[in-house]
Amino acid sequence: MIEIQNVNKVFYQAGREIKALDDINLTIAEGSIYGVIGSSGAGKSTLIRCVNLLERPTQGKVFVDGTELNALSNKELTLARRKIGMIFQHFNLLSSRTVFDNVGLPLELAGESKQAIKAKVESLLELVGLSEKRDSYPANLSGGQKQRVAIARALASDPKVLLCDEATSALDPATTHSILELLRKINKEFNLTILLITHEMAVVKSICSDVAIIGGGKLVEQGAVGDIFAHP
Ligand code: ADP
Ligand code: ADP
Repeated sequence: MIEIQNVNKVFYQAGREIKALDDINLTIAEGSIYGVIGSSGAGKSTLIRCVNLLERPTQGKVFVDGTELNALSNKELTLARRKIGMIFQHFNLLSSRTVFDNVGLPLELAGESKQAIKAKVESLLELVGLSEKRDSYPANLSGGQKQRVAIARALASDPKVLLCDEATSALDPATTHSILELLRKINKEFNLTILLITHEMAVVKSICSDVAIIGGGKLVEQGAVGDIFAHP
C-alpha cells in the first residue's frame, strides 16, 4: 500500500547540510499497522511527511496505492492526498469551527453537498463516539476528544492510509490506550493501512504488526513486531 524507495532528504540550514533521511526503503502492506520508532531527531517526522509529500524527498520515490506521488503535478497531488488521512500530536483542529464543522471541512473543500456532508459527518461522529459533542468547540474538549475529532476528520474522504504523527504523545496513558483501541477498530473495520511514528516503545508493542527502527536518518532494523522485540 505504501512503498518508499531509496528516499533521501537533505535540509540546508545556515549553509550546512543536514541529512534527515539517508536511503530509506520500506514496504508497508495493505491493512497493516506499521510503526516507525526512533529517538528525537532520528528523522521520523520527515519520513512520515514524505509519504504525503508535505516534504518532497530530495531523492527517491514514494508510492501510495500504486500511484507514484512524487511524479504528480500539484493539482494531481491534491486529489491523490484524499487517499491519505493524517493526524498530529497537537490535533490541528480549527478553533473557530465546531466539532461538526471540523469533521466536515475536507468534504466542504471537496465540494460535497450539504446533505452528503451531514450524513457522513454524523456517521463519523458516531464511529468515534462523539455524537453528543457535535456543536462543541475544540477549546471545550479534552485531549482525547480532540484527537477523536481529528481522526473523524482524517477519515472523511475515505482514505486508504492513515498517517499518525506522534498522535498519542500529548495524551495521558489511559487516553492513549483508548485512542489506540479506536485506531485498531478502524484498521479492522475499513482495512485501513496505518503508518504511525512514535518515540514510545509501548505504543508499538500495543498495536503494531510491523516496526521499523530509525536512527540518524538511517533504517536500523525492520520486521514483524514479534520478531524484532525478543520476549523475555
Ligand atoms: P524526529 O521526528 O525523529 O524527531 P525530524 O524528522 O523532525 O526527526 O528531524 C530529523 C533531522 O532533520 C533533525 O536533525 C532536524 O533538526 C532536521 N530537520 C527537520 N526538519 C527540518 C527543517 N525544516 N529544516 C532544517 N532541518 C530540519
Ligand atoms: P500545520 O501542520 O503546520 O499546522 P498544515 O498546513 O498541515 O499546518 O495545516 C493547516 C491547517 O489545516 C491545520 O491547522 C488544520 O486545522 C487543517 N488541516 C491539516 N490537515 C488537514 C486534513 N487532513 N484535513 C483537514 N484539515 C486539515
